[in-house]
Amino acid sequence: MSVALHTSDLEIIGAGFVHLDYAATAPCVRAAADAVNALLPSYGSVHRGTGPRSQTSTLEYERARDVIADFLGCRPGDQVVFTRNTTDALNLLARALPPGTTTVVFDGEHHANLLPWPNALRLPAPSSPAEAVTAADRALRGLRGPVLLTVTGASNVTGEVWPVRELAAVAHAHGARIAVDAAQLAPHAPISLAELDADYVALSGHKLYAPFGAGVLAGRADWLDFAPPYLAGGGASAAVGDRAGDVRWASGPARHEGGTPNLLGAVSLAAVCAALAEADRAALRAHEQELLAQLRDGLRRVPGLAEVSLFGTSSERVGIVSVTLPGRDPSAVATRLADEHGIGVRAGKFCAHPLVRRLTASAGNGGCEGGLLRASFGLGTTPDDIDGLLAALAAL
Ligand code: PMP
Repeated sequence: MSVALHTSDLEIIGAGFVHLDYAATAPCVRAAADAVNALLPSYGSVHRGTGPRSQTSTLEYERARDVIADFLGCRPGDQVVFTRNTTDALNLLARALPPGTTTVVFDGEHHANLLPWPNALRLPAPSSPAEAVTAADRALRGLRGPVLLTVTGASNVTGEVWPVRELAAVAHAHGARIAVDAAQLAPHAPISLAELDADYVALSGHKLYAPFGAGVLAGRADWLDFAPPYLAGGGASAAVGDRAGDVRWASGPARHEGGTPNLLGAVSLAAVCAALAEADRAALRAHEQELLAQLRDGLRRVPGLAEVSLFGTSSERVGIVSVTLPGRDPSAVATRLADEHGIGVRAGKFCAHPLVRRLTASAGNGGCEGGLLRASFGLGTTPDDIDGLLAALAAL
């Protein structure tokens, strides 16, 4: 008899798909759907209006912020700002840097954590977690003024987990701050700003089993409080005078949340965070690691493809695996998996062009024309899903 890994709150809603593309967008769990349904008949405008609908909605929105602050291990004084997604959160942070800040970034990042920092000091993607720490230490030494090191928690291409705690220690030893792109780590592992001693974290609701449209930037309030508002407009302003530019901006998260807040996004994301906080994350992780081993072992037996990796055996992984298919077009393979087997995966360069270029070159694939084929999974994925993918790949 199989033992349920979690309560019905974390059941995926919607059956009948073999979806192995969680890293792009994960399916929605019951807790998120229930939270949306509960609010649909009664919602009103957040922070705008005095009627019961508006009052309840404001309470729910701020409660969602508190739940997410707990989920992310925020310290007293940290801020949780609602954004649209991780890209939005990192762009907000980029606009909130104090003047003269030096940004340091590895080029193994998703574009969401590369492009907001056009003037960053770019370090080549390391070939082990230890090398990441050494390279960061070397790069941060001697930098003057405010410095931000910004790294991913887990790679969206290889699933490899980066040494965030160690990088945070190195950053702080040099008086720098660290931001963590947790888009891929948060769905698979608990993340605590306090425990990691990280300064900022960014994530997307739609990769964390909630619907689209809500993300979060959480972390140190001071830079955010002094920065110009990310979106100028209603909500971000406390008082507006008669002359152009005569404005006193709001303080706190409202300063960066101009426009009518996305109540349903915030509340559904918080509902997932609450359900995950209650769940046995160690059991979920163990299950995911079994699926990962099944997938990686099986892929080794399929001729004509090879798993890519940056760190080799020196790091943990989440449920994401990419392979090269020398001589074949990954998107044609992905289309056949969908059309002939009803299986959803992802093909291409996954918005991480420098990393995919490097991985395909080191796999002897000569350039990254068509990129890679990626399978990614999480809650609700079964051994049968993995077997189905392996059998389909072997049959192509
Ligand atoms: N960072 C990483 C590591 C990602 O995988 C992604 C999405 N693929 C993003 C950032 C951007 O997320 P979003 O598109 O939700 O902004």
